[in-house]
Amino acid sequence: MSTEDSPRPDVLVVGGGIGGLSTALALTRQGLRVRLYEQAAEFGEVGAGLQLAPNCTRVLDDHGLLDEAVALGVLPERMVMKDALNAEELTHLDLEDLEHRYGSPYLVIHRSDLHGIFLRACRRSGVDLINGARCTAYENTVGGARVTFADGTADEAEVVIAADGLHSTARPLLVADEPVNSAYVSYRGTVSFDQVRAHAVHEKDVVVYVGPRCHFVQYPLRGGEMFNQVAVFESPRALAGEEDWGTPDELDRAFEGTCAQIRQGLPLMWRDRRWRMYDRDPIPNWVTGRIALLGDAAHPPLQYMAQGAVMAIEDGWVLAEHVRAGRPRRTGHSSGVDWAAALAAYEAVRAEHCRRVVLTAREWGGLWHVEGTRRLQRNALLRSRDPYDYGFTDWVYGPTALTPDRLPDLYPAVSLDSVRLPVS
Ligand SMILES: Cc1cc2nc3c(=O)[nH]c(=O)nc-3n(C[C@H](O)[C@H](O)[C@H](O)COP(=O)(O)OP(=O)(O)OC[C@H]3O[C@@H](n4cnc5c(N)ncnc54)[C@H](O)[C@@H]3O)c2cc1C
Repeated sequence: MSTEDSPRPDVLVVGGGIGGLSTALALTRQGLRVRLYEQAAEFGEVGAGLQLAPNCTRVLDDHGLLDEAVALGVLPERMVMKDALNAEELTHLDLEDLEHRYGSPYLVIHRSDLHGIFLRACRRSGVDLINGARCTAYENTVGGARVTFADGTADEAEVVIAADGLHSTARPLLVADEPVNSAYVSYRGTVSFDQVRAHAVHEKDVVVYVGPRCHFVQYPLRGGEMFNQVAVFESPRALAGEEDWGTPDELDRAFEGTCAQIRQGLPLMWRDRRWRMYDRDPIPNWVTGRIALLGDAAHPPLQYMAQGAVMAIEDGWVLAEHVRAGRPRRTGHSSGVDWAAALAAYEAVRAEHCRRVVLTAREWGGLWHVEGTRRLQRNALLRSRDPYDYGFTDWVYGPTALTPDRLPDLYPAVSLDSVRLPVS
């Protein structure tokens, strides 16, 4: 790994996932010189789907990347929630109306397509992209920060952004915490649409089947040529404290008794890979000196709100907007950015927004996975919902706040206990 020929960067980004790449792009668009380090030998993402709500597509548009993303993805017509046991439709969002409300579409896209869009944009805008570099330590220096790599080399810049994911090496500088094990695990499976054409699938919708301790997600990808499925369940072995949990036999058992639509989809899941689901408790501080956490390193969520990658993309955009607000004027080696102000402004608004999302995602997942009487109360509550009531989405799908005073009110709290079931 040689950086000798490149000019000294203003910013180092560690992590070439969606968070790191989108942040490198956002900062480069503000005239900064950015170098990004990724530990993997090649840049890439898993070949599964990703949902991008309007609070993300708005940012993609600002980056000039929305048309390309729409061309590679699908704009679904509805987001439908169904009961996983009997396939009854419980509620839906009309995504065309949603686009009118929020001024930006709801998009589903192949992860590697989105990752590729950011990677190409970073290359075009001159981000210095370096692979095969595993960062082992971060430290503040006088007027900047330094990262050290597994091969013993080091690099330094005015600021270091740690976008190094759930197991971030930088996070222990801010908090001595551990990922929280939800005991849930995800299986994915992206297949050609031809493989599901004969199944009872919705070609143009995002469908979530919610069931006792499990759920199943389906949506089209790549202009409808591909079909994405995600199966999520609580692992009894994880609850029993066993090491080998979330195995394929548990997958099959978890979905016994679910509707035909799910059972048709299960054989198409990839069985050689699984994603155990961890989040972390929210923390208020993401910045120490000139080192800042971003994306999953700062706020890994459970994926129930489909906002993990979205939040990471928003993080980078918000930081870049605060860099712009400081009107950098380059003088010699200095970028001219008032980093203390920009990082403080970033942390002030993003930590609170992401705290809300991480905690709401836990609650939302809890509501999906209830059983018995709670399931009937949940279903009654969702059936009674007006599909055009946006009280539960305004706080997250609306414009990304740049300052804490612009954070919208949270959604109204509803208790399942308040739902009265008819006496049979
Ligand atoms: C099943 C599932 C479905 C999901 N669905 C959605 C969805 O629909 N919408 C949504 O918005 N989010 C979704 N998410 C969440 C989303 O995938 C993550 O929140 C997002 O990918 C986080 O991006 P990131 O760049 O912060 O972290 P990561 O993707 O984890 O990237 C971190 C990068 O840093 C690199 N790295 C790590 N350590 C080092 C090191 N020491 N040195 C150098 N490089 C390092 C890694 O190799 C990696 O490339 C889902 C998650 C799961 C599991």
